[in-house]
Amino acid sequence: MSHFCFLCQRCSQALKLNHSVEPSEEPGASMLISAQGETRETPEGGPPSKEEANFENLQDGAFCRTPHPSSGGMSWDYSSFTLLGRLEPWRSLNSIQKTIRDSSDILSGETEVDHPLCVDCTDYLLEVLDVELAITESDVQNYKRCLETRKWVSGDDREMLQEKLKGLELEEARLLQEVAEVEKNQERVAADLEAAQAETKMLEQQEKQYWKDYSQLKWQQLELNEELSSVEMRLQYAQLQCNQLEKTDVFNATFEIWQDGPLTVINNFRLGRLPTVPVCWNEISAAWGQTALLLLALANTIGLEFQRYHLIPCGNHSYLRSLIDDCAELPLFSSGKQNVFLHNKFDQAMMAFLDCMQQFKEAAESGESGLCLPYKIHVKKGLMEDPGSSSGFYSIRTHLNTEEDWTKALKLMLINFKCSLTWVSLRYGRK
Ligand SMILES: [Zn+2]
Repeated sequence: MSHFCFLCQRCSQALKLNHSVEPSEEPGASMLISAQGETRETPEGGPPSKEEANFENLQDGAFCRTPHPSSGGMSWDYSSFTLLGRLEPWRSLNSIQKTIRDSSDILSGETEVDHPLCVDCTDYLLEVLDVELAITESDVQNYKRCLETRKWVSGDDREMLQEKLKGLELEEARLLQEVAEVEKNQERVAADLEAAQAETKMLEQQEKQYWKDYSQLKWQQLELNEELSSVEMRLQYAQLQCNQLEKTDVFNATFEIWQDGPLTVINNFRLGRLPTVPVCWNEISAAWGQTALLLLALANTIGLEFQRYHLIPCGNHSYLRSLIDDCAELPLFSSGKQNVFLHNKFDQAMMAFLDCMQQFKEAAESGESGLCLPYKIHVKKGLMEDPGSSSGFYSIRTHLNTEEDWTKALKLMLINFKCSLTWVSLRYGRK
């Protein structure tokens, strides 16, 4: 029976031999030489390794030890041996001879040594060899093609190629020059870009400042517009008032004269008194002040300066100053305590007032469109004449007079003044 085995030289796994193959017919399988004869060599004189020892035991009697040529005949070299297959005692002579012949072929190098390999490693080895073979064939094809190409290139073609090479070199030089120019341009463009960026920054700052100024000016414009509209509104209002004032008559607006029954009123002050209508003297004095102011305004309007008297309106303390009687002051007011039936300065003042009024009447009656008063004035007697009345004359004095007649005389006087107001408004009011 078999007492030996073989190891794969790549993965070192035990090989299974196909026993159906006759050793004499398959020398590659039955006759193996240890491929590790050199690599697994035991050091000289040293004991064999354990693996080898086991191997030896397993192969007990199954290998043939060959005498070492230099061993002197009887020593054995364990480092190199050849397996000869199963050395059965019943082997035929023919098989032994074949084995010896194959061994001689191996030793003489006529037969390649087969390394024992397992099936997997053999497949792997075959694949690797196939790849190497394909690469080698490709290289061979390339070499062949190069050789053929070299043969095809003629002299003319070579010259043409040389010229083409020169042209390409010139092109390369030109392109290099172009590259240099482009680089120079790039530097210039970079400088321009930097300058443009600086200018952009400056312009942005300017724009910012402009917007700031614009906002301030816009704000000012809004304020001025508001002020302008305010001024326009005030102007419009002033224009309205001006129009109203232009339509307003200053004399009629300043002096209002109307009748309140038997009494006449000037600017809300009653001038005169009756036993049935007692008017306080303070009010009468105020009414005299308004009347004196009216006469002075009329005289000033027509440019009249009174002779003999100087009229001084001063509220309820108005008076006349005599220009001929040592500047005597004639009070145009009364407290009512004096004896009105005696000759007094109040009567003199009213007489003097009638004198002034007569001067105005004479001045106003002269010239075109002259004034025409309805009631005549008798200065020396101090009378007002009413043509329509039965008695006809009413004294302005209080001495030897009744309150009724005195009040009537004052009424006629004020009616004359009302006519004077209308006349002076028509003639001078719109100027
Ligand atoms: Zn293997």
